[in-house]
Amino acid sequence: MKTAARMDDKARSAARAAAAKARPAPPGSPVPAPTRLKFWGVRGSIPTPGPTTVHYGGNTSCVEVRADGQIIVLDAGTGLRLLGQQLVAEFDAQPLDLTLLLTHTHWDHIQGLPFFLPVYEPQNQLRILGFEGARHGLEVVLAGQMESPFFPIGLREVPANVRIEELKQMRFRIGPVRVQAYSTYHPGKCFGYRLFTSDGSLAFFPDNELHQPDGSENRKLIDFLHGTDVLIMDTQFDTEEYQQHTGWGHGCLDDVVALALRAEVMKLFMFHHDPNHDDAKISQMLAHARRLVTARKGKLQIEAAREGVTVELGAAVRV
Ligand SMILES: [Zn+2]
Ligand SMILES: [Zn+2]
Repeated sequence: MKTAARMDDKARSAARAAAAKARPAPPGSPVPAPTRLKFWGVRGSIPTPGPTTVHYGGNTSCVEVRADGQIIVLDAGTGLRLLGQQLVAEFDAQPLDLTLLLTHTHWDHIQGLPFFLPVYEPQNQLRILGFEGARHGLEVVLAGQMESPFFPIGLREVPANVRIEELKQMRFRIGPVRVQAYSTYHPGKCFGYRLFTSDGSLAFFPDNELHQPDGSENRKLIDFLHGTDVLIMDTQFDTEEYQQHTGWGHGCLDDVVALALRAEVMKLFMFHHDPNHDDAKISQMLAHARRLVTARKGKLQIEAAREGVTVELGAAVRV
């Protein structure tokens, strides 16, 4: 891991300069930093490096949220590796206090964890929150992927203080940030989260299939999401593909747009892009989604999540 921990000086200073702008204001500072999120991994199922996925990115599920003095990481897909490099460059030897909130333990949501540099620094604290992994406890599942012969360093051997806390309640707090959980329709156990910050709320549903339109389950979800500023949701399939994948636990774009309109969401980010979708296909799906909103005279803004993009919450949602 020593090699992985090295970062060339140029990359380090560039990362530090970028981070200086985005760093949360220290407690008591007159102008608190606005809540912001950054996409580090937007792909579903498996990483997809290569020339046809450069625009939206090929890393799997990982979103960083900075809100009310907290650094909250949503999912630990392969995008987590890049976030780890950024955090180490930005904070240098200062201790980091991080919360990782997991939706579920499918590979594409946990595989970045063994390559997350902050866990190899003894001054850092990482609190991992998630519901029980299907069939096994959360700790067993997370430690399992780092056991020999899968990985050379065990999760319990890393120098940082890593605490794994299995969630039991559907409502909890991460510092001042209020969180509500929602059990999604996806194989095994999987949860979506809505985070309420002082600048508004965001909801993260990376793996979810909607039930039949107008069903009572969808009404429950519409209530749960009502008025969300930023919704990040699984839109893996277009309508044609969805016909072949009904019941797989992933979203159909048209259904998600309809849901976001009914829930009066301000901004929707299409997420968990299918590994077989190249940049052109995702851009086509985005254009289609925007046409749906125009046809219904809706105000919903839509983007396709893209690695490296930062979004600020506030009076207006800015990208
Ligand atoms: Zn997934
Ligand atoms: Zn999954």
